[in-house]
Amino acid sequence: MNNKIRENALYSSYLSSDDEKKRMYDYEINKASRVDESANYNLLTGLPVLRMFNILCTDIIRSNPDKKFGVIMSDITQFKAVNEFLGRQTGDMVLHKIADCLNAHVQQRPLTVAGHARADIFVLFTAYEDRSELSDIATGIKNEINALPLAYHVNISFGICASEESQPSISYIRDCANLALHEIKGKHYADCLFFEDSMRTDMLKEKLIESELLIAIENEQIVPYIQPQVDMSTNRIIGGEALTRWIHPSQGLIAPDEFISIAEDSGLIISVDYFIWQKVFEYQRKVIDSGRQPVPISVNVSRMHVYDPDMTRVLTQFVKTYDVAPEYVPLELTESAFTSDENKIILTMENLRSLGFTISMDDFGSGYSSLNMLKSRDMDEIKIDKGMLSDLDNKKGRIIMSSMLDMLSHLDVNVIAEGVETPQQQDFLVSNGCTNAQGFLFYKPMPLAEFDKLI
Ligand code: C2E
Ligand code: CA
Ligand code: CA
Repeated sequence: MNNKIRENALYSSYLSSDDEKKRMYDYEINKASRVDESANYNLLTGLPVLRMFNILCTDIIRSNPDKKFGVIMSDITQFKAVNEFLGRQTGDMVLHKIADCLNAHVQQRPLTVAGHARADIFVLFTAYEDRSELSDIATGIKNEINALPLAYHVNISFGICASEESQPSISYIRDCANLALHEIKGKHYADCLFFEDSMRTDMLKEKLIESELLIAIENEQIVPYIQPQVDMSTNRIIGGEALTRWIHPSQGLIAPDEFISIAEDSGLIISVDYFIWQKVFEYQRKVIDSGRQPVPISVNVSRMHVYDPDMTRVLTQFVKTYDVAPEYVPLELTESAFTSDENKIILTMENLRSLGFTISMDDFGSGYSSLNMLKSRDMDEIKIDKGMLSDLDNKKGRIIMSSMLDMLSHLDVNVIAEGVETPQQQDFLVSNGCTNAQGFLFYKPMPLAEFDKLI
């Protein structure tokens, strides 16, 4: 404790009433804010930090009840990469440039405040008449940043909230602008988005799913369904794929499309996957115990496991606990996983292969990296994406598919077609040498107990 603080602490313990303590506290706060003015402004750009920004905006809102106000929030896409490619100095220069643009608006427009929220996130608050004024401001800033002579393209996006309310709360409009900004992520066609009420409802729905999902895992409402895979030349079941289903107590069966991406965003997918993997290992053990020969049941490995340091340990632990050979639980990795952090995932995969696991490349043909991956990586299985099958009704689609199957037959890799729905697709595949398939034409995903009766 330094002397000053000790003095104050001593002093406050002598104060008799709470009122006196409060007065003392206010005095200290005031003194601190006078002494440390810099804490209210960003050191790099000199713009108000959020706390100060809020105070300034609230003052304006209070004294102008007849005005409409908007907030524009900006974020640079992958600012870290900008710093890495161009150097910190240039990164700082870009931030200064944004601050200059905002300051220019503060000078030109009445009732306007600029702020520097953190790192590469800026805010502008202003009174407006027409929404287009706000998007014009964003476009103007974007143009200025684009005009900088830089060797790396700096992309900046904007979330805008144009409040129609009289005397809105600054935190609320800022929050809405922030939601709009988040909504832009992953939408490459847009760099400026206005807040809409649906964004809040979507966000709340996602939050609800997120909070319920954790309980669902604990209460075993998450279950694996199995979709059998067949050899079309003999109609025998040669394996299966475990696909997650959420048996919700009030909403019934929920398909993975509704919760997998939310689980990925929140990191919960790791637990979902572990849970499904364990159920599959457990099931394979039961099959062996009943004296039957198991067929491989593959599991999905989310691309989020690229950043999961425990994956290999967890899988080898399941192999040990259930005493089930890893070849009975092939790992399906979607093509796009390899584009996120390629080297890392490849090392993990090679390690898992050396431990006896087989790796299947899921959704082959749905992304950009398919052919590259084939060239440089050892895969055990390629799963042809159902999108390619739906193209079989046109001539080009058929040419591409038959050439691809021909090419794959020269590589030492197992091939299976996914999403086979019609006898025509089946005939085409078989006549082009692809006999393994998974699809509604044969079986839909089913509960474990049903699958168990089939094999
Ligand atoms: P996926 O891995 O590509 O799984 C195949 C999807 O195609 C499944 O959808 C399956 O029901 C569907 N399908 C199979 N045959 C046909 C067909 O003939 N026609 C059509 N139209 N569809 C067919 P599902 O079960 O809804 O799963 C969707 C996606 O969710 C999966 O795509 C996978 O990416 C993800 N997913 C499912 N379970 C898990 C899991 O346990 N972990 C992870 N990380 N992802 C999972
Ligand atoms: Ca899959
Ligand atoms: Ca697939």
